[in-house]
Amino acid sequence: MGESHFMATIANSAIRRLPMLLLPMFVAALEAQPHLPSRRLPDIALPVTPLPAPPVTEWWRNGGPRLRPQSGRVMAAIEAGIARSATFRALVDQIESAPVVVYVTFDPHLKRGLDGALAFLGDAPPYRYLRVSLNQTLSGNELIATIGHELHHVAEVLAHPDVRSEAALAALYRRIGHGTRTARMDGWETTAAMDAAALVRREISGRGASGTPSAPSPGSSIAASRR
Ligand SMILES: [Zn+2]
Repeated sequence: MGESHFMATIANSAIRRLPMLLLPMFVAALEAQPHLPSRRLPDIALPVTPLPAPPVTEWWRNGGPRLRPQSGRVMAAIEAGIARSATFRALVDQIESAPVVVYVTFDPHLKRGLDGALAFLGDAPPYRYLRVSLNQTLSGNELIATIGHELHHVAEVLAHPDVRSEAALAALYRRIGHGTRTARMDGWETTAAMDAAALVRREISGRGASGTPSAPSPGSSIAASRR
């Protein structure tokens, strides 16, 4: 994997900060030049050309970031979840320390009635690749809670290292989940993931654990082999 591919996956905010970190070094290097004809330079600030970002060791840690939002909206929702919900933050911490890569994306083709879905993309030991698909009509707190719900499903997969294919994922949810069926779709659900979403919803809305119960989570599903 080349550096440029990896760089494309890191957080934009980190990229933006980097030139500021390098600027003092750059200025110091300029001042150290012994032969600068300083008397002949016009009395204006030198233009500063941004330096190319060098590899930074911490970004390279074994495979890069685990959670990979595929749009600015998803990234903003994840950042808000981390900032406002301890439950959400704990799920992200767990995923970021595991051998898994999770793409999180809006999916315009998600089945009607679904808020989110989890799919198995691939197995490249030790890494497993998963995709969280989100209903693009979601926004605000519901988007954050839905991401939290799906991240709980990722944690369920992490707890089962034997799940290394789409068929094994479907088998896992037949085992640990319960079937959900509406007029428009059927799939699998776990009570624990629904509880996690309810907890995230309470935390980000500022209500305590004893606050007003939230509305039940709308549909969410593990994407099985059906298309
Ligand atoms: Zn679910």
